[in-house]
Amino acid sequence: MMKNMSDNGFLNRIFKTYYRQYKEQESSKFNFRQREFGFLFWDRNYMLRHKSFDHLEQLKDFLIKTGPRHVYSSGAIYEKPDNPNMDNKEYLYCDFIIDIDVDHFYTPCKEKHDRWLCKNCGNSGNGMIENCPKCKKAKIKSISWVCDDCLNHAKLEVFKIIDNFLIPDLGIDESEINITFSGHRGYHIKIENEQMRNLSSEFRREIVDYITGDNISFEVLGLKSINNVIYGFSRESIGWPKKIYSKLEEILKNYSVEALRNKLRSYELTGGNIETILNNKKRILYEIYQNEERVWRVGLSMKALYKLLDGLVKDIGGNIDEPVSIDIHRLIRYPYSLHGKTGFKAQPLKLHELDKFNPLNEQNKELDPIVFESKKNHNLEVIEEIPRMTIKGQPYGPYSLGQQIEVPNHIAILLLCKEVAKTI
Ligand SMILES: [Zn+2]
Ligand SMILES: [Zn+2]
Repeated sequence: MMKNMSDNGFLNRIFKTYYRQYKEQESSKFNFRQREFGFLFWDRNYMLRHKSFDHLEQLKDFLIKTGPRHVYSSGAIYEKPDNPNMDNKEYLYCDFIIDIDVDHFYTPCKEKHDRWLCKNCGNSGNGMIENCPKCKKAKIKSISWVCDDCLNHAKLEVFKIIDNFLIPDLGIDESEINITFSGHRGYHIKIENEQMRNLSSEFRREIVDYITGDNISFEVLGLKSINNVIYGFSRESIGWPKKIYSKLEEILKNYSVEALRNKLRSYELTGGNIETILNNKKRILYEIYQNEERVWRVGLSMKALYKLLDGLVKDIGGNIDEPVSIDIHRLIRYPYSLHGKTGFKAQPLKLHELDKFNPLNEQNKELDPIVFESKKNHNLEVIEEIPRMTIKGQPYGPYSLGQQIEVPNHIAILLLCKEVAKTI
């Protein structure tokens, strides 16, 4: 079923009205004039890039005139941000940006609310896949949904990265951390720190590997086996060995037997190894952290130990979209702009505001990403299956193909932005 082409015109007009009343403060750290801006519009598929603006008012005029579907700005600062040739932009430095998006990691609730459609053979199903199970092609259109569980997962990732890596290990000050809810399924963390700003892409990659735990070498941390005696991590190590121990302590001490068994199963340990761990919890904690000789007599082979450590590392490491942090010329969603897949606002947050922040039902008007809430109703026809959702505390759906529905303004805008319904 086709969407109604005039719906994009409606969304375009409604986005313009938002930008008319848009009151953003210019931040000196943002270096407004030196950022590159990029836009996607409602009537074409390519991005307008290499734009720059002298001041906020000029950008605002542009937004009111054009009402773009998506607004982006560069993490980088350039002498000539509007030069269309990257080599002639005269790059100065780039904020360190971390993107946490549920699109890039698994959450169990996706089986319930996300759908995929193979553009090659027409096969479809629930959940998240990379290749079509029938024709094996990777031409997949995914229809992802906004959901409280997914957004909570994303929020926990943000805390994990800030509390376990940015503040203790990288020495970033809380005041240098800017968090933005993307307006869809994730958050950005932007670090405005002099040293981080000047890092090359190669160094950024090393930091990304450190945060994700990818390529971690247990040998470098001191793990080795000599004559069937296993020697563990060097005692002086901090950072990862300490994180691994804390996580191990958390699951061995706090989890119920059943929860621990499930956790260890998810690490792909065998039944025998799992029982060994369950029966030796105290001893394992002692050997791994307190034994001065660094000899780990834990009843596990090196192979099983690797499985356990790999599993712990995956749990500890941050789930981030790596290219966003590494590529210094990347554009990211502009704070306070509207997300064209939801009609929600990209909402900046201070670290202390994050815990209570509830993107789909925020009580603080200042922080509420849902800007089009109103009692005005719209009549729509459903053109893609729509899962059940809860927005502003109200349940909607599920709605089936061809169903005619009457929904309030902010829900209509969400469904039209998602292209799962059309006006009738
Ligand atoms: Zn297929
Ligand atoms: Zn979900």
